[in-house]
Amino acid sequence: MEREPSPVSRAAYDAMCAERDQLLMLLRALPDISFVLDEHGVYVNVIGGTNEAMYVSGRNLLGHALHDALPTPLADECLDLVRTAIESGDLQTVEYCLRAADVPVLPEEARTGTRAAEDQWFEGRVLPLPTYDHPNRVALWVAVNITPRKQLEHYWQEVAYTDPLTGLANRQRLFERAHKEVERAHRHRHPLALLEIDFDYFKRLNDAYGHAAGDEALRRITQACAGILRDSDLMARTGGEEFAILLPETDHDGAMDLSRRLLETVREVRLPDFAPDARLTISIGCATLKTEDSFDRLMRRADEALYEAKASGRDRVCTTPRSHKR
Ligand code: GH3
Ligand code: MG
Ligand code: MG
Repeated sequence: MEREPSPVSRAAYDAMCAERDQLLMLLRALPDISFVLDEHGVYVNVIGGTNEAMYVSGRNLLGHALHDALPTPLADECLDLVRTAIESGDLQTVEYCLRAADVPVLPEEARTGTRAAEDQWFEGRVLPLPTYDHPNRVALWVAVNITPRKQLEHYWQEVAYTDPLTGLANRQRLFERAHKEVERAHRHRHPLALLEIDFDYFKRLNDAYGHAAGDEALRRITQACAGILRDSDLMARTGGEEFAILLPETDHDGAMDLSRRLLETVREVRLPDFAPDARLTISIGCATLKTEDSFDRLMRRADEALYEAKASGRDRVCTTPRSHKR
């Protein structure tokens, strides 16, 4: 139903309608998909989306409501945004994740296809369309598929947090996670332990077999150590041949027990293909979180314990005095 313009504004109204038609034509040509949604969240028009690699056909959405198409929390958020755009007249933007498999009103082939279960990220740009020919107030929702950008962001974030030699976490990731775990352990009065590890006489291995062999030894041995950890533990490379393991929910006895198993694991590693006579060992400093401890203090005590392990003969675990036990 066309809204009746006042005679004075006829020319302006015609100009706006012409502009609207041009806009819709333009949207039709764009690779991105656009929707016209009314204030009740009903899909009034679906335009564009010509890039089939990035968008599934939205033709089945017509006449359905956001709540028929999307998981409820997302539908609630989208409807809020449509209404805010209409009320305020301002552009609204949102980023959201959606899988074709979760949109029941899409065509069968889109919901069950090979990529249906993949997360797709979209940026929604929502603007009111005051001159649109519809009895209800409507907004234009332009959905831009930003999945490639999200994947790149994720990739670079992983790179920034990963040690390239061993594939373990790096110092940065350890520190970020450690501060969260320290805070959590204090809040819930749960135990938390930290192991600091340094390879014994590692320089000798390099001198005997070369630096590349040293690198490969670090890779293999840390892999073997990581293999006996729990999913919630975090092993990180903190320096050349120095590592740390953060152990949430682990008390003194648990951390000492794991340390002994790590010592044994390293002793048993053989490197027949590039360092046949090498017998490597590690030294471990073990510390557990005390009331009021910061991560810095916990680390300092693990360092002191590691120094003690080195000084008292290597291939062993030492800990700070048991009076520190939580
Ligand atoms: P210890 O710790 O038992 O006192 O003796 P160490 O020979 O291991 O001495 P230290 O820990 O002080 O020195 C570490 C040596 O490890 C120095 C360097 O030759 C070697 N190293 C450090 N980082 C790397 C690395 O990334 N790759 C290789 N191949 N060697 C490394
Ligand atoms: Mg060292
Ligand atoms: Mg060393």
